[in-house]
Amino acid sequence: MPSRSAEVEQPKLRTVVHKFGGTSVADAERYRHVAQLLLARDEEVQVTVVSAMKGVTDALIELAGLAARGQEEWRERWHELRARHRGAAVSLLGEHAGATLEWLDERFDQLAQILAALGVIGELPREVLDRVQGLGEVLSARLLGDYLRTLGQDCAVLDARDVLVVDRSDLGVDVDWAISAHRLAEWRGMHPQRRVVATGFVARDRNDRITTLGRNGSDYSGAIFAALYDASELHIWTDVDGVLSADPRVVPEAVQLETLSYDEACELAYFGAKVVHPQTMSPAIERGLPIIIRNTFHPEHPGTRITADRDVSGPVKGLTLSPDLAVLNLEGTGLIGVPGTAERVFAALRDARVSVVMISQGSSEHSICCVVRRAEAVRAQGALLNAFAHELAIGQVQRVQVTEGVSVLAAVGDGMAGQPGVAARLFESLGRARVNILAIAQGSSERNISVAIDSADATKALRAAHAGFWLSPQTFAVGVIGPGNVGATLIEQLHAAQPQLLGKANLDLRLRAIVSSRKMLLDERSIGGDWRGRLDASPQAVDLDRFAQHLLAAHMPHAVIVDCSASPAVADRYAEWLAAGIHVVTPNKQAGAGPLPRYHAIRESAATSGARFRYEATVGAGLPVISTLRDLLDTGDAVVSVEGILSGTLAWLFNRFDGSVPFSQLVAEARGLGYTEPDPRDDLSGTDVARKLVILAREAGRELALEDVQVESLVPGALRQASVGDFMARLGEVDAVFAGRLDKARAAGNVLRYVARLDAEGKASVGLVEVPASHAFANLRLTDNIVQFSTRRYCDNPLIVQGPGAGPEVTAAGVFADVLRVAAGQGAKL
Ligand code: ADP
Ligand code: ASP
Ligand code: MG
Repeated sequence: MPSRSAEVEQPKLRTVVHKFGGTSVADAERYRHVAQLLLARDEEVQVTVVSAMKGVTDALIELAGLAARGQEEWRERWHELRARHRGAAVSLLGEHAGATLEWLDERFDQLAQILAALGVIGELPREVLDRVQGLGEVLSARLLGDYLRTLGQDCAVLDARDVLVVDRSDLGVDVDWAISAHRLAEWRGMHPQRRVVATGFVARDRNDRITTLGRNGSDYSGAIFAALYDASELHIWTDVDGVLSADPRVVPEAVQLETLSYDEACELAYFGAKVVHPQTMSPAIERGLPIIIRNTFHPEHPGTRITADRDVSGPVKGLTLSPDLAVLNLEGTGLIGVPGTAERVFAALRDARVSVVMISQGSSEHSICCVVRRAEAVRAQGALLNAFAHELAIGQVQRVQVTEGVSVLAAVGDGMAGQPGVAARLFESLGRARVNILAIAQGSSERNISVAIDSADATKALRAAHAGFWLSPQTFAVGVIGPGNVGATLIEQLHAAQPQLLGKANLDLRLRAIVSSRKMLLDERSIGGDWRGRLDASPQAVDLDRFAQHLLAAHMPHAVIVDCSASPAVADRYAEWLAAGIHVVTPNKQAGAGPLPRYHAIRESAATSGARFRYEATVGAGLPVISTLRDLLDTGDAVVSVEGILSGTLAWLFNRFDGSVPFSQLVAEARGLGYTEPDPRDDLSGTDVARKLVILAREAGRELALEDVQVESLVPGALRQASVGDFMARLGEVDAVFAGRLDKARAAGNVLRYVARLDAEGKASVGLVEVPASHAFANLRLTDNIVQFSTRRYCDNPLIVQGPGAGPEVTAAGVFADVLRVAAGQGAKL
């Protein structure tokens, strides 16, 4: 190693190499911050590799492009760039800026000459581009070095083009260690300072031409200098707390990883985790050099430590996305069993200098599929058409297809080796988020599973997979329709439960939309506790299409619509929403008890798309009536009959009706207590009970419509058309009739109850009946509901579900429970 040869007799000095990315050196203020950070450290030799100021490399590339295309506006950009650097120099160096400014001006004059020459030749040779795009690092290193000197530090500035020699090939950049070490030793002979600031990104090739290490290559420069200096550590300083479990710009919930193995870091970097350049690892791996990724703006944070150690605790550590790819598919019946086809495919691609990102071949050998960069897709297709021209002509190969707009999602972790179920978990989360997979590959190291997907699904897929591995909460976009009594209570319950669901179950239910009958409120984030005021103030008119679209936003893996309205028009939309993959949860009885064709369409949509339709709260509010019935049927039981008291209002009225108070007076009292609908005839007519019975009957597999139910209405015929006021005033006219029925029941030792019945023959009825005083229905409290299932198993003694069956609190809780069941069905840890 060079440092050893230079310092043979001396004890080795503790050397640390730091690399600061463009994000850490955006302006003068940040250079000051970086300098302070460096001065606070205690290593004996400190080598600092810097990137260009933020955005400068892009600006230089743009300048070169403009100039080569003969577009004169490069001059304006050139001025801006020069001004930015001069400004930083003046701010940093103050009265000592003179020499640096002169030096900067010279560099910019040279740049202007090159750009002017490009305009003349009208093209942009690679070598010139490299010379231009690497200038940012040269300027940046000088700025930091000069600043450290004005702070009184003895510091040398190293232009990496003077020492680093590399070979650039399609596979990347190889360092010529021998020559580079030799040149560095010479340079160090002349620059013995213990503080060195070096340029990132730039180098020379073997022919002495200026070159670069590829975009983001300063990380690699850091690793190379760490190797050349025989450093004990490499610190890569950036603007995040380390390597995160996913790109934080796509998955804001991404978590910081404390440690990573080199292998994991390689895979993450290769598949696009921008935070570290893929080649950075190779010099480090060979020397067992720890790499620490850390945050310039949060220097006390320990960051992510990348070493040879493996921590196999979680199967997946991180997920990445590589955009701008294409799938190339070679398909032919003539390929089956023919040896060497794969070899020919990859040889042809290699000859066309196409790099293959991912390979997958079905075991039928009927097709070979690989993923290549979009920019190389056409060339790749041409190469295969050419290589297999003969097979295509004679029909052994049917086609060579290219699908563009593809991204690769990769899940990476040492812990997945030998562990079953990791792929299943990935595919399950993608499947549930309705992401179609174009191709799959798993390396035999089992450290990485990659899937090619449509780029349009990429964000959603990354988030879904991230949540699927419990790396971030399972996120659901929730939309509530009808913030009336039940809807508003549900919204309150959702808010109250959010912290606990997030903390305990890792479930993030985000209320992103509310629609009332008049207004609509859509929010990109979660609508907070001030929803009522915001909804009132919202200028948006109701538009259920937009509402659904908003919930389906590309980045949200799951969406649920909760319909708390009583509207048939909303129920008309369920089938379409379910087909689009939106789950529907509702206490609205319209769909369950409405026209059969609509009901079937809803069921079919749900079955095809896999989205859930749940309506537990339509019967018995929060009581587990429908889920109990489903459990019975799912476990193979058969329903013989169903009987129950399904109206809280009617339950209360007949529990209280003992003859001491006239019936009409009880109705008035119930209305006063808020137990009835505003128009009590809606309860007394029995239609609502009939609807619930239809829902139960359909659940039990009977094709029942509302018209099939024999309904006894308690509203006297003469009062059906009256106003609510008139109805209440005149209800006393029938008190005698009710009193008579009660007397008759009593005489036989019975009580009166309003009961819904579905008998063994499928006959459905709701009405006022007498039941023995000892019957379960005779002993209810307040507004309790009761449902009694007689089944093949529960034949001697029916299965009974009983409890409070009305009121916004319990109804909303029933709806909420359905939402949670949907979430659990999608993998939430409940
Ligand atoms: P620098 O200029 O410091 O080299 P980069 O922009 O090249 O910074 O890389 C840091 C950025 O990488 C972060 O700001 C973050 O947005 C992005 N990034 C992408 N994937 C990841 C990941 N898995 N972990 C951390 N950061 C990531
Ligand atoms: N400045 C170079 C780039 O933007 C190298 C780097 O910052 O890593 O690609
Ligand atoms: Mg970078």
